[in-house]
Amino acid sequence: MTEAGKPERLDRYMARAVAAYYAGREAFGAGGDFTTAPEISQAFGECLGLWAAVTWEAMGRPDPVLLVELGPGRGTLMADALRAVREVAPGFAAALRLHLVEASPRLRALQAERLPSAIWHDGIETLPPGPALILANEFLDALPIRQFIRRNGAWAERFVAEGAFLEASAESPPPLPAEAPEGAIAEHSAAAHAVVAALARRVASRGGAALCLDYGPAEAVLGESLQAVSAHGRADPLAPPGTVDLTAHVLFAPLAATARANGAAVHGPLPMGLFLQRLGIMTLAALQARRAPHLAGRILSGAERLVAPEAMGRLFKALCLCHPRLPPPQGFETA
Ligand code: SAH
Repeated sequence: MTEAGKPERLDRYMARAVAAYYAGREAFGAGGDFTTAPEISQAFGECLGLWAAVTWEAMGRPDPVLLVELGPGRGTLMADALRAVREVAPGFAAALRLHLVEASPRLRALQAERLPSAIWHDGIETLPPGPALILANEFLDALPIRQFIRRNGAWAERFVAEGAFLEASAESPPPLPAEAPEGAIAEHSAAAHAVVAALARRVASRGGAALCLDYGPAEAVLGESLQAVSAHGRADPLAPPGTVDLTAHVLFAPLAATARANGAAVHGPLPMGLFLQRLGIMTLAALQARRAPHLAGRILSGAERLVAPEAMGRLFKALCLCHPRLPPPQGFETA
């Protein structure tokens, strides 16, 4: 806890609130607070598993290879991915070693039920060396952000004190635009930049690729995106920590620059709908709908929700960081 009344920087507040939230609350699905892509359509995890398999082929089939997921939630994406890989790409299935990065002990226990062969890590620093394929869906948006507000030609910073926002002078701010209109808000996630920098260094030096799927703009923007969600609706971001899900838009343009500066080749960000269509998600869903006619409506509408621009297809993006000698991975060829 913080000292009573002492203002807490927004990123520190958010880190505390997000950790409490995932430690204690059933977040996912109809009975939870929000629904993520793998919980909407099993074809999502299947496509990503097959994407990892074909990327592994392009890497020259290293054996062993790490298959890593950051923030696996209920383990749904990876369970779907592994099922598809075992059926279609048994060579990759035999070579892969599963490693999961997960902070929440409660979610680790859920993941262990579905992914018993996994090895868990608190952060990416402890992953073993070697070539890796790394997946992260709605992970970066949960990482803490700072917010800066333009006041009188300078940047002030947002803090939280006694359940309310307050502004104070910014302490050692990150690089921010030199000019911005009065009242403009700039967001920055040092944690997201640190993760992306580490992933980029890793794939550049050890080989492989990291695929991040998340929501946020492709271009650099100003504006506030911190949001709280509870029971599938908007909530107060300053509700008691741990009771609501806090996320912010992932700012892909500056993260891509960080990845390049750390040696990775960067592909995308692409709209997620376009990426998933290029991977053939609608074909997989159509096949599943044919096999289970009583579920066909749900199967097809689930996959459509992921690709439709007005649903998740455009706001969500796919960004891939690769070893510089790897050809553009599947789905990113013409981007
Ligand atoms: N990828 C899943 C879950 C997304 S929710 C899905 O698509 O359904 C975010 C996930 O990241 C949760 O598993 C949460 O516990 C984990 N997480 C959030 N912040 C983290 C951090 N700093 N370190 C490790 N895991 C974190």
